[in-house]
Amino acid sequence: MRSHLRGIRTAQSGADELRALQFDKLIKTLEAAASSDLTASSVQALRDCDLRYPWNGTQAGLVVAEMLARLPLLGRGALRAKARAALTMTPAEFVHYYESSGTTGDAVAAPKALHDLVVNTMNIGEMWGRFLGPGDSALILINGPFAPAGYQFEKVLEYIGVMSTRLWTDNVTGDYTRILDITRELHINTFVGTASRLLEMVQFALRSGCAVPRFSRLLLMAEQTGPHLARHLERLTGARVYVCSYGASETGTVAVACEDGQLHLQEQSYLAEIHDDDGARLIADGPDRGELVLTTLDLPARPLVRYRTGDLVEVTGKRCECGLATPVIRPLGRAQDVLAFNGIQIRQEDVEALLWPSDPTGVVVLNYMLVLSGDLAVCLVTTDRRPDPDWHTALERRLATLSPASRLAVRVVEALPPLSNMGSYVGWKLSRVLDLEDNSAWHRLPEPIRAVLEQTLTELDAVAIPTARAGSRPHEGAVLS
Ligand SMILES: [Zn+2]
Repeated sequence: MRSHLRGIRTAQSGADELRALQFDKLIKTLEAAASSDLTASSVQALRDCDLRYPWNGTQAGLVVAEMLARLPLLGRGALRAKARAALTMTPAEFVHYYESSGTTGDAVAAPKALHDLVVNTMNIGEMWGRFLGPGDSALILINGPFAPAGYQFEKVLEYIGVMSTRLWTDNVTGDYTRILDITRELHINTFVGTASRLLEMVQFALRSGCAVPRFSRLLLMAEQTGPHLARHLERLTGARVYVCSYGASETGTVAVACEDGQLHLQEQSYLAEIHDDDGARLIADGPDRGELVLTTLDLPARPLVRYRTGDLVEVTGKRCECGLATPVIRPLGRAQDVLAFNGIQIRQEDVEALLWPSDPTGVVVLNYMLVLSGDLAVCLVTTDRRPDPDWHTALERRLATLSPASRLAVRVVEALPPLSNMGSYVGWKLSRVLDLEDNSAWHRLPEPIRAVLEQTLTELDAVAIPTARAGSRPHEGAVLS
């Protein structure tokens, strides 16, 4: 632990020795990778390579770059196809078994070994400890049945001496009452979880006449949380939003928030490259943007070498005001998260800027989902109270500016489809946009949402719903697929 703490301090201070530390760890990672069925052959690329052992940090940086350039990239598909082959130990030798989400593809085994649990806990704790400590208390509301996040954040809060309670709603009723009571009784001031779950809890409180929980900080992860959504959540809860960590079950936590709410790359534990049409290069001092490629330096039990995450990130290239020297990155989501609607590209932020303006008056949109069918769009919204027709018309007019050639309606519903809470599993686009041109989309809709949509589409002169799709609609009471 002490040597890892020194590594964290070295990275945070920007000392030249960081490159030497990364070199030493890369050698160990490659030794581990040589014993993994998934990566052994790719490490062979360095076999006949004449590399001089670096004698200072600058040299080490150059040698690391040279070594990486010779190693092949590892695609997400290749890892998913042979996930177990990435492990260098038997499952029984790990502390806990976890998987990354399999919703958008095959699940990837991501068990935690003692070493990477300790390292990841320290990496996050040394960042969160800059703005959280004894005297704070946290509600962890993360129900990832196979993912390590809830467990991992509990360990982090233990590390920095913050009392936490890890709760979940009743599986049968979806009732948040006891969670709201405990939050109030224990004066919990920090929420740890996803934006969509927080919205669901706030909506439950409003619907059931409970007080909306107030927090000092919201530590949000896993979903794209842009500035408009963040502002909306801050208004609802009185808290400050931190997008508190970035990573995945298979990579561990790659970047962690500082007190200024910026995500700092954990350079003591990862080599990070940016990949685009010009190839891949290590993240350096300047601004950059492209797909993040990671080599793990502290995951000997399941090493990843030049792993293509599929995530677009932006490197700001500016030194953060908190004083830490580690690069600041901004996750931009997956390339496919841009929504193409009726020939127009729409971004999450474009929609949310219109739903949550900076000077809101009257009825507040709590949460939303877009449903598309040809040139028709229905924006399902939940609201804090029942709106009047003028409000409807005004919101429809605002949203219509996104795609003037399309027909658009706003419908207020009691609750959004459960899909809207699954951003952390399926990504923003799949959780917030339902394209009914896709036959399987109808199957994802529970009643009464489906009836509301069908009626709205009919009103929008959408009677000509393709026969195939109409025929594929599930019968009453069908469960979500
Ligand atoms: Zn910072």
